[in-house]
Amino acid sequence: MSIQVAVNGYGTIGKRVADAVELQPDMELIGVAKTSPNHEAELAVENDYPLYAAIEERVELFEEAGIDLAGSVEELVDAADIVVDACPSGIGAENKSMYEEYDTPALYQGGEDADLVDTSFNARSNFEDASDADHVRVVSCNTTGLSRLLAPLQEEYGVEKARVTLVRRGGDPPQSGRGPINDILPNPVSLPSHHGPDVNTIFPDLAIDTLGLKVPATLMHTHSVNVTLEDVPSEEEVKELLGSQSRTFLVPPKYGIDGAGKLKEFAMDRGRPRADIWENCIWEESVSIEDDDLYLFQAIHQESDVVPENVDAIRAVLGTADAEESIERTNETMGVGF
Ligand code: NAD
Repeated sequence: MSIQVAVNGYGTIGKRVADAVELQPDMELIGVAKTSPNHEAELAVENDYPLYAAIEERVELFEEAGIDLAGSVEELVDAADIVVDACPSGIGAENKSMYEEYDTPALYQGGEDADLVDTSFNARSNFEDASDADHVRVVSCNTTGLSRLLAPLQEEYGVEKARVTLVRRGGDPPQSGRGPINDILPNPVSLPSHHGPDVNTIFPDLAIDTLGLKVPATLMHTHSVNVTLEDVPSEEEVKELLGSQSRTFLVPPKYGIDGAGKLKEFAMDRGRPRADIWENCIWEESVSIEDDDLYLFQAIHQESDVVPENVDAIRAVLGTADAEESIERTNETMGVGF
């Protein structure tokens, strides 16, 4: 029987994970839970995703909007083999006791604290750690992007120290209330930023310092990366290594892609759903070696890079595939890899 998957929280991440689960031959999306009958609720209905009320007091709002509900979130969680919690930061922690009550393992997203869960997760880096866990956190978009980059570098050359400046988008495109509108904010202003410790939830012993900025952009994050390596490869060897990873895209100079705008256009031209870019986008020309130091720029699509990771985390928790099988199946069904 296929894995019965529930998605609680059907927003930016939840709706993408639901669509990705629906594509998996070994999974069945048994429902999504929502708080309000907005356009996304209608989309779920149009997609034939059974819709459940996340909050009992709001059932009436769905009735008034003429949207049929299949039941309550508790019923959905009870029926599921696993639940993907894609609620706003902090709500996942509030939901944990419900998942425990129904004995349903849960995946949480990067907005939750690492100490909420048994393990944090990145498919390329620590797939096996999630085996049999009850509570697993798929790390944030930025930590996912850094883990995918650092895992092969660590394995091939050894990382003495990573230093990363994260130039972060102010908000996602629909987040009209977020900023800055016309500013460049050191954020957080104190150093190092929380991103390095978050990477340490995946690589406990890795030396990494991070700095964060927030800018008036919505499309993607950009990382300026410096990694001091123990064994120093040539630039060509690093390009070959990063180009061989299934979730990193080495942006070739001939494409003339100079930033996030053209990357998103590229994704749209290639028919990507919601113009999603699931891969790290590493500018090939930026890959440089100076003495022991590797430098590069990568762009990360915050709304979608964690989506294939959630699919893999489902198999990791339930032990239905190993890392290689799962990553390959997810990539193939979703179309990951340009
Ligand atoms: P979102 O606000 O777009 O979506 C969250 C959805 O959950 C909304 O539809 C909201 O109405 C719903 N919701 C609120 N309370 C709920 C409840 N009690 N029960 C069920 N649903 C509820 O948020 P998002 O961007 O999808 O973020 C979700 C999680 O993913 C957060 O932990 C966030 O940090 C993480 N994350 C976000 C991004 C990103 O860039 N958007 C990237 C990676 C990880």
